[in-house]
Amino acid sequence: MAYITLKRQNFFHNLDIIAKLSKGKDKIALVLKDNAYGHGLREIASMAAEYGIKRAVVRSYDEAKAVEEFFDYILVLADTPKEYSEKIRYTINDIDSIEQFEAGTKVELKVNSGMNRNGIEPSELERAFEKIAARDLVLEALFTHHACADEADEKHYKMQKEAFAGIKKRAKSLASEYGFAPLRYHSCNSAALFRERDFDEDMARVGIAAYGCLEMPKGLDTESKKLLPVLSVYAQRISKRNIFANDTVGYGATFEADKAYCLSNYDFGYGDGFLRSASGSFVTPQGVVLAGRISMDNSSFLCDEEELLVFDDAISLAKAAGTISYEALTSLKSYLPRKIV
Ligand SMILES: *Cc1c(COP(=O)(O)O)cnc(C)c1O
Repeated sequence: MAYITLKRQNFFHNLDIIAKLSKGKDKIALVLKDNAYGHGLREIASMAAEYGIKRAVVRSYDEAKAVEEFFDYILVLADTPKEYSEKIRYTINDIDSIEQFEAGTKVELKVNSGMNRNGIEPSELERAFEKIAARDLVLEALFTHHACADEADEKHYKMQKEAFAGIKKRAKSLASEYGFAPLRYHSCNSAALFRERDFDEDMARVGIAAYGCLEMPKGLDTESKKLLPVLSVYAQRISKRNIFANDTVGYGATFEADKAYCLSNYDFGYGDGFLRSASGSFVTPQGVVLAGRISMDNSSFLCDEEELLVFDDAISLAKAAGTISYEALTSLKSYLPRKIV
């Protein structure tokens, strides 16, 4: 069966770089949503704990429970609690959702600073504090999310940064007015953290950089270029044959041999997460050429190996497929075995 390896050394190397930018491991909240970006939720959580990461960000309550033992603090981005846990906090994404939380629940308030996806509007800030206090929720933090932290043009990024600075100021006085303990503030994803020269927030929510697949625009990429991909995919050969000039391979007969080749067929297809749109232009890190279309459970390569390293850098696979590393990684199915190496 095709399988995934996770390079512990690369993961720790990335965390070293991130910790330097965030000014301490304790400021890193590692984003583990979507099966830790396809890497394997528990595998990454256990390595992160071993490294000394204390904070995690997940999408759902179930993910939070699955990694609860590894962290002191877990932020759930979009779910409600099934049961109270001291360690888990929930995001308020919309002013009308405040009623969904039971009294005593730890919450963080997300504010829209210009991405226009989740979060209350800045104009709703006072009303939100009022509702949170009336509902007796434990408000711990205020945060926002950037739309353009990885774009070359800094206009939108700066606009959101300034908007959040204003929101912070108002939230500080509202927090004391409503009797909340001083709030934590956070706005940085990987790209924003790597863009900042002088990070000064309470926490950074870091996903893709930890997995070594952050792409920054030229001029802003001095630190991100040092990151190393953590994940590799290996596939096992199912069958092999010799093909000759004019033979074609796979659905649609899109590959036609110009001469004789040994052709090996492997057990990794788009059903497993091998992006089908990479068909036609994909070459493995060792220079092995993909022949024809990726099919559901199979892909064919011009080589004679029992086992094939399909990719070890999601950025280059994503480029061949016309997408981003995030999609190449999160497409990998959870049933693929993960091995830490
Ligand atoms: C996914 C996510 C992150 C992490 O983003 P990266 O680009 O992977 O670092 C941070 N914050 C929020 C709210 C997210 O949804």
